[in-house]
Amino acid sequence: MFNILENISLKPHNTFAVEAFAKRFVEISSAEQFKNLLQNEDLRGEELLILGGGSNILFTEDFNGLVIKNSIGGISITKETDAYVIISAGAGVIWDDLVDFCVTKNLGGIENLKLIPGTVGAAPIQNIGAYGAELVDVFESLTGIFIQNFEEKTFMKDECKFGYRSSVFKTDLKGKFFITEVRLKLNKKPRINLSYKALKDSVEEEGIANPTIKDVSRHVKNIRESKLPNPSDIGNAGSFFKNAEVHKSKVDELIKIYPDLVFYKVDNEIMKIPSGWLIDKCGLKGLRKGNTGTHDKQALVIVNLGGATGKEIYEIAMFVKEKVKNVFGIELIPEVNII
Ligand SMILES: Cc1cc2nc3c(=O)[nH]c(=O)nc-3n(C[C@H](O)[C@H](O)[C@H](O)COP(=O)(O)OP(=O)(O)OC[C@H]3O[C@@H](n4cnc5c(N)ncnc54)[C@H](O)[C@@H]3O)c2cc1C
Repeated sequence: MFNILENISLKPHNTFAVEAFAKRFVEISSAEQFKNLLQNEDLRGEELLILGGGSNILFTEDFNGLVIKNSIGGISITKETDAYVIISAGAGVIWDDLVDFCVTKNLGGIENLKLIPGTVGAAPIQNIGAYGAELVDVFESLTGIFIQNFEEKTFMKDECKFGYRSSVFKTDLKGKFFITEVRLKLNKKPRINLSYKALKDSVEEEGIANPTIKDVSRHVKNIRESKLPNPSDIGNAGSFFKNAEVHKSKVDELIKIYPDLVFYKVDNEIMKIPSGWLIDKCGLKGLRKGNTGTHDKQALVIVNLGGATGKEIYEIAMFVKEKVKNVFGIELIPEVNII
């Protein structure tokens, strides 16, 4: 049925590649297995942590409970019309495998999200996004289980409270609900999304007259590989902080001091400033502290240069946060889940 292991290293299970031990560890491959597991008397009162690919998590200490590694697989088309398909994927499917599955079948909507590490089940948690697209754009529904009473529930899009790198699963339901299956609505007549300037420039440079979603995913892959460190070479979890959302009066104030300030309009009141720009402006791009630092090409990515502990990474992150607060008066919010 399932095999509960004891005192297991989590180093191979997190992309920061930091050492931390789980008191207990189990891998499950179906929702049924998860329900059976929770009914185990021996686990009553045990602290639980659901783990996907470990690409958005920082272990600052050992986990004194049960880590449940989600390996629920399966991709299927559950509905098809002339215009769209609904694809259902097990939460343990590798996100990038799902992207490739859809791109190969010319089903449009997630090609801009190519090469984001992690699992399908974690994608709704922070409403993954990149290169002008977000999961919410194609999200149909998800099913999962409440950890407290094993009750199953399907959430439609409105109920998920998706926001910028956020959802109800990262706020009110954090740690309380296990996502087992995700459904996406994909377009059979794909609309090409080149709203992100660097992507548009890259596609145009190649001189393709009518780019396909295959072209888009290939360009996203190339851009990402040239800008972001590959976790199998240098431990990292992508952007450590969310981009800063500030009131427009803050932008008015800062632009007087920094005429080169980069910002985007969210709505009439709120502006977004890239946190990488803020960190860079503090002179912290390529920062080095012991075995950790910020990446040379992208200041928003904190890296494990080899042998760093989770605490060291956390400390450098807090150092960066403090510096940005002192210089700009802006409070950075971590995107990474800190344990
Ligand atoms: C190099 C790199 C680049 C990245 N680029 C991007 C990017 O462009 N855009 C972006 O949005 N993110 C990006 N990320 C962050 C990360 O890939 C995503 O957040 C991804 O969705 C995390 O998936 P995971 O399976 O690894 O989650 P994990 O790290 O395993 O878990 C993250 C959180 O979700 C919870 N969780 C995981 N699975 C489930 C489940 N099935 N049910 C309930 N809770 C669950 C965990 O308990 C934890 O709190 C990047 C990361 C790296 C390393």
